Amino acid sequence: MKFSDYHISPLIKQQLEVMGFNKPTDIQFKSIKHILEGEDVMAVAQTGTGKTAAFAIPIIDKLENRNRKGYKGVRCIVMVPTRELAKQISGVFNEIGKRTSVKTFGLYGGVEQEQQIRTLNNGLDVIVTTPGRMFDLISQGHLDISKLEFLVLDEADLMLDLGFMKDIQDVLKHIPKKRQTLFFSATISKKIKSLAYEVVSNAIRIQVSPKNPVAKNIDHAVAFVDMDDKRFFLENILKEYEDKKFIVFARTKVRVERVHAAMERVGVKAEILHGGIEQKDRFAILDRFRSDANNVLITTDVAARGIDIPTMDYVINYDLPDDAENYVHRCGRTGRGNKRGQALSFCSEAEKELLEAIEAYTGEEIEQYTITKDEYLDILNDSDDGSNNWKKLLDQSNKEDGTEDEW
Ligand code: ADP
Ligand code: MG
Repeated sequence: MKFSDYHISPLIKQQLEVMGFNKPTDIQFKSIKHILEGEDVMAVAQTGTGKTAAFAIPIIDKLENRNRKGYKGVRCIVMVPTRELAKQISGVFNEIGKRTSVKTFGLYGGVEQEQQIRTLNNGLDVIVTTPGRMFDLISQGHLDISKLEFLVLDEADLMLDLGFMKDIQDVLKHIPKKRQTLFFSATISKKIKSLAYEVVSNAIRIQVSPKNPVAKNIDHAVAFVDMDDKRFFLENILKEYEDKKFIVFARTKVRVERVHAAMERVGVKAEILHGGIEQKDRFAILDRFRSDANNVLITTDVAARGIDIPTMDYVINYDLPDDAENYVHRCGRTGRGNKRGQALSFCSEAEKELLEAIEAYTGEEIEQYTITKDEYLDILNDSDDGSNNWKKLLDQSNKEDGTEDEW
């Protein structure tokens, strides 16, 4: 089936054609019809499979066709975990709905409120929000959601993990009982399942490839590297593949800063993104990364959740994630749409348990990248980091004495 065969507004179809969307992806094929029919949906599908358009297309169509009956408030709220995602997803709504009258706005904190109030007063249909600012504006009387028709939770599982549960319940207090509720994520936990059934009437559960949550078009490898040596391996890869686009994950903000400092010391250009960075800088950092002005982004799980940059070549797990589900989300920053991507993880001795947990969760063994002792020492030796001196090498070879040749 093609989009041209759908019973949706021709204004949407024309725009999808311009965007190069001819055929729906699996999850779009399975969700759009149910959403058009007015059903509640809980959809789980792998990263990069077009979940955004799976809810945006039918919502825009319904909003375009439905009479407002004098109601001036917002008709759809999409709740997301980060401001970056709010910006990205409101962009997708505005692009798909470009020829329609449906207007979407990313509403989040960290920016001036006055301009947002003016935009709200001009009339909006959809807001994509990290809900803090939205509640401020509701309580100040600038935002009416009393006749809301759609509530969407994207990255639904993370929304709960981040403690958005109370926000979700607060939103529920302000909106009609009769509405459509939609949940989308690449991973689903028991927690989100029970929440979903708490807030929806009869959710249709749609799951694409339930057994393996990892996107199919990503090649995975793991290299066993000592914790203290990881930076030399990262330096080595980043210097070897200078023209490629990398997203590098570390476990915490502090680790992100440290990895960045280590790369700066050896002359590798990179930028960082995490929740501790000022909002205006965060958007600029992501824009530079999107536009190839910067090709290496070192970041955390939350900061990069859901981010769609189709040209991403490599995901590096500098640290393995504590939570196996995050492995899926991290690797999912590459291999988007029908592009292939590669994910490489650095695993230290202490992280082997995490690796096992990831393999148990995904149900697949990750290919081990074998580094011979000589290669390993060469990589340390090639580093431009002055602290990697003869003593370190000596320690290294002593440590290796009597062990097998491969790590
Ligand atoms: P997900 O939320 O599932 O991780 P996104 O909604 O971010 O995925 O979409 C991933 C990429 O696929 C985006 O770059 C988007 O433009 C593209 N895409 C989505 N649907 C289609 C389609 N039907 N045809 C072609 N490309 C698509
Ligand atoms: Mg998404």
